[in-house]
Amino acid sequence: MKLDSKTNYGLPIVLIGLLLTSLATFYVSKKNSEEDKLRFEYEMNFIIRRIQARMENYEGALIQTRAFILNSPTIQRENLRNYIKDTQIFRRFPGLQGIGVAQIVKKENLGRHEKTLKKDVEYYQVWPEGFRNIYTPINVLEPSDKRNRKALGFDMYSEPERRKAMDIARDEDKAMMTEKIILVQEDKGERLPGFNLYLPFYKNESDFSTLQGRRNNIVGFVYSPFRTHELFNAIFSEIDSKLDVEIFAGNKIDEAHLFYDSTPPINLKKKANGLSATKTLILNGQDITLKFYESKEFRRAQTFAKIFFVAVGGLLVTLLLLWLYLLTRKQMLLARRVAEENEKLLLKEKAHVEARDDFLSIASHELKTPLTSLKLQGEVMKRMINKGDEKALSKEKVINLVNHIENQTTRLTRLVDDMLDISRIRTGKLRVEKSQIELCEVVNDVIDRLKPQFAKNSITVPQVESDAKIIGNWDRFRIEQVVTNLLTNAIRYGKNNPVKVRITKLPPYACIEVIDQGIGIAKENVGKIFDRFERAAMSANEVSGLGLGLYITNQIVLAHKGRIEVESELGKGSTFKVLLPLSD
Ligand code: ADP
Repeated sequence: MKLDSKTNYGLPIVLIGLLLTSLATFYVSKKNSEEDKLRFEYEMNFIIRRIQARMENYEGALIQTRAFILNSPTIQRENLRNYIKDTQIFRRFPGLQGIGVAQIVKKENLGRHEKTLKKDVEYYQVWPEGFRNIYTPINVLEPSDKRNRKALGFDMYSEPERRKAMDIARDEDKAMMTEKIILVQEDKGERLPGFNLYLPFYKNESDFSTLQGRRNNIVGFVYSPFRTHELFNAIFSEIDSKLDVEIFAGNKIDEAHLFYDSTPPINLKKKANGLSATKTLILNGQDITLKFYESKEFRRAQTFAKIFFVAVGGLLVTLLLLWLYLLTRKQMLLARRVAEENEKLLLKEKAHVEARDDFLSIASHELKTPLTSLKLQGEVMKRMINKGDEKALSKEKVINLVNHIENQTTRLTRLVDDMLDISRIRTGKLRVEKSQIELCEVVNDVIDRLKPQFAKNSITVPQVESDAKIIGNWDRFRIEQVVTNLLTNAIRYGKNNPVKVRITKLPPYACIEVIDQGIGIAKENVGKIFDRFERAAMSANEVSGLGLGLYITNQIVLAHKGRIEVESELGKGSTFKVLLPLSD
């Protein structure tokens, strides 16, 4: 991975993180809805199987009762009641609301039938009134509670829905369910939906293998009335269903055909957003339509929690990655910067060591030159004296010798002073002792002292350009040293061209400018000339020097809380500006 301060992978990390989070969230929610669909399908099939099994059970109860009836000599209420008690049929088939028998009575036998039945139940009477060819009244109906007693004698064949089911049951010898009916047991106000389940029974030992045989030999029906509400409530109470169900008789989905609604009132458009499905099944010869909807409890809280967890988890991981990346990046950049700085310091140190080595060789050369010269002069004099040469001690010779000695010692003193200053600066002992001085006077003094050098280089002694006296608190000796260094450099590097000195007030500074028209300094060297032992490459070869002057000069100015500026162009000359604060 490329690492620099400009390259930042933060945004791509966030984008990739967000993309992956969205994909994961999408995947989880898709997976969830697939799971929901499977769960819905499973619960739906489970409910259907339970309803089918329950109805098969009821059919079984009727078959069992039919077997008992066929083997009883007469169909009496007492017998049926005992049978029900013995077999505990209502306990074994929960939801079964009654078991009854309806015998077919031809019109000519109606009177006898009623008479016989009245023996058992005195209020027994076939109803509704009217002449019909055959009657199929309810003879017995257990349990004999108030509601069921109300149904006794009802000619079920007189009612078309019931007749239709009875005819099919008879013709096909099977348990047959009616469509939606209102049971005769119901009170007027409470007209709840229900259905009857009929099972035919035929004359003993008769042939009912053919349709005609079944029609001729039919005796009656064992039947069960069902209030759909109670029936389905009983079924659903046994299973923990998470689906809402609406059950319709037949294939029409409307209020008129509604058998059962787990969450009334019926709303055919409800939960259009959720899962729903319609199934049709045949229960005891009758079409039943079931409409399933997901209930409120269907969508488990954990489904949303899962999606939420993935989304929030993804975001947190993204932020964590971003944080880690930024942290690592910051540390790596820091480490890199430290390494770079160390490298720079090393190079600088190396350059310093090289410059110091140069300095040592130059310094020894500079020290040796005046000493060699003095030694040579001394030897010449000694030889002349030994030879008895009278000229050796002539006034002229002695003056020359003294001048020479003075020059060389001045040179040596300057050299040693510079080296002492360097060591003072290094140890922080360069002190400035301030007193009130006038700048033009100090500069003029220095120029006076340097007159011989100007003369030696054929340069006119410069006149200080100044508007007024500038008085300040500075170290006279050190300011002299600064001006001396700048003027000496202007002489040395000035190509014998005139030198200008200007003193001005630039509040809050006093400014001394030394301007020459000499060799100038290359741009790349301007920044270095104030360093220790640094000499601009070109000049170094041409003019002797230790590369200490400007370093010391700068340190003196800095100790005065001032600064030095240089403007220079190679080959055209240089301007050195010393800015000294006018007040402390
Ligand atoms: P030295 O002159 O002994 O080498 P300085 O510290 O006085 O040391 O100067 C450092 C370098 O700056 C010199 O070697 C020279 O290259 C350059 N320099 C200083 N003054 C001038 C000037 N007036 N003109 C051109 N170059 C200069």
